[in-house]
Amino acid sequence: MAKPANGTTTIASPPAAEFASGWTYAPAPESVKVQIKPRYTHFINGVWTRATGETFPTLNPATEQTLCEISQATGGDVDKAVAAAGAAQPKWAALAPGERAKYLFRLARRIQERARELSVLETMDSGKPIKESRDVDIPLVAAHFFYHAGWADKLAYAFPGRTPRPVGVCGQIIPWNFPLLMAAWKLAPALACGNCVVLKPAETTPLTALRLAEIIEECDFPPGVVNVITGDGRTGATLASHPGVHKVAFTGSTEVGKKIAAATAGSGKRLTLELGGKSPHIIFEDASLDQAIEGIIAGIYFNQGEVCCAGSRLFVQESILDDVTSRLRRRLSTLRVGDPLDKNTDVGAVNSRAQLDTIRNYLRLGADEGATLHECGTAPLPAKGFWCRPSFFTGVQPSHTIAREEIFGPVLSVLSFRTPDEAVARANNTPYGLAAGVWTDKGGKIFDIARKLKAGVVWCNTYNKFDPASPFGGYKESGFGREGGLHGLRAYVDF
Ligand code: NAP
Ligand code: MG
Repeated sequence: MAKPANGTTTIASPPAAEFASGWTYAPAPESVKVQIKPRYTHFINGVWTRATGETFPTLNPATEQTLCEISQATGGDVDKAVAAAGAAQPKWAALAPGERAKYLFRLARRIQERARELSVLETMDSGKPIKESRDVDIPLVAAHFFYHAGWADKLAYAFPGRTPRPVGVCGQIIPWNFPLLMAAWKLAPALACGNCVVLKPAETTPLTALRLAEIIEECDFPPGVVNVITGDGRTGATLASHPGVHKVAFTGSTEVGKKIAAATAGSGKRLTLELGGKSPHIIFEDASLDQAIEGIIAGIYFNQGEVCCAGSRLFVQESILDDVTSRLRRRLSTLRVGDPLDKNTDVGAVNSRAQLDTIRNYLRLGADEGATLHECGTAPLPAKGFWCRPSFFTGVQPSHTIAREEIFGPVLSVLSFRTPDEAVARANNTPYGLAAGVWTDKGGKIFDIARKLKAGVVWCNTYNKFDPASPFGGYKESGFGREGGLHGLRAYVDF
């Protein structure tokens, strides 16, 4: 420490030798200037199509500003993309598996190198906080490609005694809540197994998928192996029912998932569906409550509740109901809602005006049906953009709409239970079955409850933890098929 003449204390710079290696602080991600073209076209057969035809804007939901114009794919564009994938697929499948792996490793490394740019772009296009895109989404995207690169030449070990063959052309349709991560979940296993892909990102968040196509181009993938086409639900429907598509992988709402199931029924197409959820948390009185509150907060509020597996129903053992509710209120009041590009922001912008309207509708409905709404935070929200304060309902009955339907917003329903059996029965009382959380200090209780919960993933004393080696997927109306891990490969091979 040096004491200057005016009496203030300053921290002396470290000796120059400490910086001899050239190490410096990396810039904060929000300082990265991301280039966005005024208009994007489709990436088909390794080239960007000509800019003709209908376009639609993609917005920054935090400012309502148009980021750029996106092309609406026509039936002809879908045909071209499917044909390109069909022509490329036998050659891609015939490559030595180790060579396919090299492409995927190269892609994973380029994603890591361009992680800051991808994080900023994801946050601008989707409204999710930069700390989520920077610390969760983009690292998981790279991890997914690394993991599946490792499988490319080991498929025979994944399916011992069988000879796995690729399925063919995969039509992959993804939603707006984890735009690049969902693209990675779909692309990485498909490519590792020798399939070629036509990917359609969501209308409101196409930019990172398009940037990924640029990176794929930069990594010199053979033309047609990955094709990215943009458009609305019509494009998705055309792709899903296209006769040249052998497998459809869809993540999105249960409503659209049912339409795709109907459209592909009897066509011989393979299908996996990752759909909605109304996932329960169960907190027992012996749980570490501070830890549980943090898990619950992270499980629903950090992405504005726009998480398919958001823990949106909280079942609290009756003896600790008041304690949990007041801790929840206190912790929620500390969450920062606002500029998603600010690294201190916890809750960003809701992805679209339509989604915000849906959430507000549920907030009204919850109050009308007799539940009590606790809205947290009093700081003024930005004048422009789509914002929703984190909130929760108490006095919720299992029959209330807010306890039954997926809200897809930062809204939690708090319910109570007396016995473990009642907790399980209430938690399972839903048409969905995507995920669940159990909070207790007792190991035996964890195993007992987890076994009885009808959910694809059960997190114990934690929530929303993902790993490419760990399969993810649902039961019942949450869909079928798994993504990630050994199980996820199964969707992309035939025998
Ligand atoms: P969505 O409306 O079902 O849209 C998902 C994708 O399907 C979008 O690309 C959409 O295009 C496209 N689409 C719309 N109509 C279609 C049709 N008739 N045929 C084919 N494709 C069609 O869902 P969303 O509102 O984007 O996403 C929210 C939902 O996704 C929630 O229910 C959530 O639970 C679920 N989700 C599930 C998981 C999971 O892993 N289980 C993960 C994330 C999200 P447009 O964007 O142009 O509408
Ligand atoms: Mg957008």
